Amino acid sequence: MAVTEGILRRQSARESAARTYARALPIVPVRARGLTIEGADGRRYLDCLSGAGTLALGHNHPVVLEAIRKVLDSGAPLHVLDLATPVKDAFITELFHTLPPGLADHARVQFCGPAGTDAVEAALKLVRAATGRSGILAFTGAYHGMTAGALAASGGACDVRVTRLPYPQDYRCPFGVGGERGAELAARWTESVLDDPKSGVRHPAGMILEPVQGEGGVIPAPDTWLRRMRQITAARSIPLIADEVQTGVGRTGAFWAVEHSGVTPDVMVLSKAIGGSLPLAVVVYRDDLDVWEPGAHAGTFRGNQLAMAAGTATLAYVRRHHLSERAATLGSRMLSQLRDLAGEFPCIGDVRGRGLMMGMEMVGAGAGAGAGAGAGASGGGGFAGDSGSSGVTDPGGDLAGDLVDIGAAGARESVGGPRPAAPDIAAAVQRECLRRGLIVELGGRHSSVVRLLPPLTITDEQASAVLDRLADAVESVAGSHTAHDEPRQPQRRRRRQGDRAERAG
Ligand code: PLP
Repeated sequence: MAVTEGILRRQSARESAARTYARALPIVPVRARGLTIEGADGRRYLDCLSGAGTLALGHNHPVVLEAIRKVLDSGAPLHVLDLATPVKDAFITELFHTLPPGLADHARVQFCGPAGTDAVEAALKLVRAATGRSGILAFTGAYHGMTAGALAASGGACDVRVTRLPYPQDYRCPFGVGGERGAELAARWTESVLDDPKSGVRHPAGMILEPVQGEGGVIPAPDTWLRRMRQITAARSIPLIADEVQTGVGRTGAFWAVEHSGVTPDVMVLSKAIGGSLPLAVVVYRDDLDVWEPGAHAGTFRGNQLAMAAGTATLAYVRRHHLSERAATLGSRMLSQLRDLAGEFPCIGDVRGRGLMMGMEMVGAGAGAGAGAGAGASGGGGFAGDSGSSGVTDPGGDLAGDLVDIGAAGARESVGGPRPAAPDIAAAVQRECLRRGLIVELGGRHSSVVRLLPPLTITDEQASAVLDRLADAVESVAGSHTAHDEPRQPQRRRRRQGDRAERAG
């Protein structure tokens, strides 16, 4: 305990005020395997944060460790810039093996600096070079990374103009209708912005989108909308960039999330899971776009051999063991169990996700106000990384107040739209989960979405343990603040409590 406290004290004294996860998760991991992390104090946690969605195979999977050891023992150079090596060659072969048909046969790959954000920068640069145009179309709620200014400070051109378009969402639909109709209206808006000569938007260099918005609150794009974006961009010769940094490698129930819709993007941005827990990022694109100059996108750390070996092992394991199918089946079962939980606790406003990328939006009391209902609750579009700073505060200063009369608010929901987002309740659930040995992520436009990103290797038993702990945490947050949020089905709660053996190791 003293070791843990000492390390945490020194961390808060010495590390940046911008640190994120560390604020909401005051633990000191020293060992990890699969779903489980062990802290310096000996406590064990079920990790459903998975390195912000990086760990497709969980922590320290044997095939990943073996691949890393093999490179270390071989005497191969660990730093090679962007030179060719057998390790890199094997990685590209395995990566191309997994690509959506239509891209695989005509693909080029650019290795980037090791973070997802660097690959996003490279993708934007690529389409600007290929089209000779400069503007980019992006979507409300999108998250593509954190870099800004490095190129400007280096004297490079970086005046990327971004036009923001509506991303379809059911629960807080900007048009107040949701469903297929909301998605169709969002598509029409995009079309009209591109075709209206007075829209103020010049013909863009590319469109970038996430097939499932992760940090934006776990919002899967409807397949029909994604196909519409493909038609709209193809008809106007606008390269479509799919940012699969978080959705890739089986996470959503398909190897790449674009496969659900059958869409073939022109460019794919990949990172996180492709490095098998080590830093790696690439852009994959159609070869006719490959017209940029040598050195157009450089970077010292583009040749991480250990990450490529770990990545090759991970990609191959996910493919050979059909882990995307497993993510689809288990994910839909877990989502339906989360929906049952939402039926018990009105402070869960919405449950959504795809595969093993799941979220639960926490809401407070108050009349719904359509699309803008949540805006007043947190005063900011925080992403997952903000959860430690903005998510743990209670903007209204009254968590109990948020929960009072929530049942009555629930009755109004259908007529007045969704209730206000409740980042304070989400943060309380995250804290209660941690107390019960479960690590969850927060995200969403208002930091009000409790997110689950378990490894694809999670067993049925572990999944039950995760849901038990989560249900317990929600119950304690709901129950400790007000008597008005009584579960709607107490018999189920009692059964769950009976079940609550520590099933995961
Ligand atoms: N794109 C998406 C969809 C992401 O989810 C993220 C990070 O969460 C990024 C890009 C940025 O990746 P990185 O944090 O490695 O820069």
